[in-house]
Amino acid sequence: MTAVTAETIRFFPPDLFEDDRAALLDAVYSIGTGTDQKFILGERTARLERALREDLGAADVVACSSGTSALTLILAAMGVGPGDEVVVPAFGCAPLASTVANRGARPVFADIDPRTLTADPAAAEALITERTKALMPAHMFSVMADMPAFRALADRHGLRLVEDSAVAQGGTLRGRPAGLWGDAGVYSFVQVKTFGMPGEGGAVVTGDTSLAADVRMLRNHGQDGVHRFRHHRVGYNSRFDEVMADFQLRRLAGLPGRLARRAEIAGYYSDRFAPLADRGIVAPPVGGDGRCHYVYAVLAERRDALVDHLAAHGVDSHVYYPRALPEQPAFVPYAAGGVRPVHAESAARRNLALPLYPHLSDAQVEHIADTVCAFAASREKTP
Ligand SMILES: *Cc1c(COP(=O)(O)O)cnc(C)c1O
Repeated sequence: MTAVTAETIRFFPPDLFEDDRAALLDAVYSIGTGTDQKFILGERTARLERALREDLGAADVVACSSGTSALTLILAAMGVGPGDEVVVPAFGCAPLASTVANRGARPVFADIDPRTLTADPAAAEALITERTKALMPAHMFSVMADMPAFRALADRHGLRLVEDSAVAQGGTLRGRPAGLWGDAGVYSFVQVKTFGMPGEGGAVVTGDTSLAADVRMLRNHGQDGVHRFRHHRVGYNSRFDEVMADFQLRRLAGLPGRLARRAEIAGYYSDRFAPLADRGIVAPPVGGDGRCHYVYAVLAERRDALVDHLAAHGVDSHVYYPRALPEQPAFVPYAAGGVRPVHAESAARRNLALPLYPHLSDAQVEHIADTVCAFAASREKTP
């Protein structure tokens, strides 16, 4: 085993933007001293939208104030409201359910596939009723949802398809970028995401220009961008920050390299952890297609003991979702009478994320893997 590093390997690195400090200060200075004093939705935001759109080959990209807000704008543009149901995964982050509930609609929780941890299309199909308006699968940790199956399911039932691709920017499935499988998809630029930044922001991506036009209006109080103070729709304040747009434009070219480093680290972990499956530690599915290397989460039978073991060896870890969404007090009222999502509950009990960020050194990555393997080796094989 490699020597224990002197300093704990943090799960969320405090020096994430160290190399970009000067760029950030520059952006603040140039926008703050610019003649038009445009701090939101200026030409930098427009350039960022164009750059993302061209990279993706999307019809449109609309930058907005967060990933959560991007989901909300899409649901609003689709007219999701009271009386409607949206099928969402039973395992994942709160916005999957809260964005639907905040539109006055009902989130309906589909259980997940126990291996990919993303919504199971068959479980989702069983929940479709005459009130179902949309399906909203989400990419989870490092695996994209089964979008071909969800696309087919949505088409077969005449439903809208919202793709929560907040964690999957840069991922592709069968050659199609994450975000473009749904009628609309989202990215989140919150700090911890793969294209994170020191602030809040996100984007709606879509191949549907008319949906995009609605989203554009809704993000700025329902105005059309031509006539100020003419409000066509009941909208939101979900505008994008110019300083952040400047920052993201400067960092965009480096994104593929950072994603490649994440993939390399994840691949190394998976090679090391492959033999641990019968020792109570299951690594996520490997391969390149349909993968997004946002979070590297194993499923561990003795999770609390593994957390302690890692901590004792200077490695921080993180439980993303300790409860299935239908078990969260906020969403219990929506889940009443539903089928118990046993796979979501099991994933909530076992998921444990290990550090995964581009500037981890090879020695740190090895130390993390060694520590997990040593923990597994100290256990009896499960029969
Ligand atoms: C992060 C995240 C969001 C929300 O994005 P914010 O920018 O934090 O609002 C939505 N869905 C998923 C799956 C996420 O991981």
